[in-house]
Amino acid sequence: MKSTFVMLKPDALARNLVDLIILEFQQAGFTIARRQLKNVDEATILAHYDEVIARVQLPFFKERILESFVNQDVVILEIVKGDDVVSEVRTLIGKTDPKLAEPSSIRGKFGDDDMSVAISEGRLVRNLVHASDSDESAKQELALWFKS
Ligand code: ADP
Ligand code: MG
Repeated sequence: MKSTFVMLKPDALARNLVDLIILEFQQAGFTIARRQLKNVDEATILAHYDEVIARVQLPFFKERILESFVNQDVVILEIVKGDDVVSEVRTLIGKTDPKLAEPSSIRGKFGDDDMSVAISEGRLVRNLVHASDSDESAKQELALWFKS
């Protein structure tokens, strides 16, 4: 058995989609090993997204991350399945841009945003859920978010 880290982002809570999204994971055969409601602080979200902040070359990207997450509630999950849990969860959540995500994926099914619109408006794309992209980042993110 292996674990991955999932975060239901503030837009998922604002739209009351927490239970429906968790049901998607359960119906796909994943086990929710840990679940916690968390109010986000600046240090944690900056540590979480430091690689993305370095990679995405958009003006004000860091500021947009801070205003979207700091002092907002999120739901954090540890999700468990077999050796391929990280990639299987990434497939289930779908592509970063909800407009391009498979209709059967979580972002495709529940997403209400479009990356090109978000970029033209200079903001983060709303895509409801984060999932770790490698075994190594899963380990780091689980340790970061579940530490307290
Ligand atoms: P993912 O969440 O699919 O792993 P990334 O790690 O590339 O995607 O980016 C983290 C988050 O930052 C995305 O989920 C999205 O909310 C936001 N984001 C990334 N790139 C952009 C972009 N070019 N424009 C707007 N928002 C972005
Ligand atoms: Mg990512």
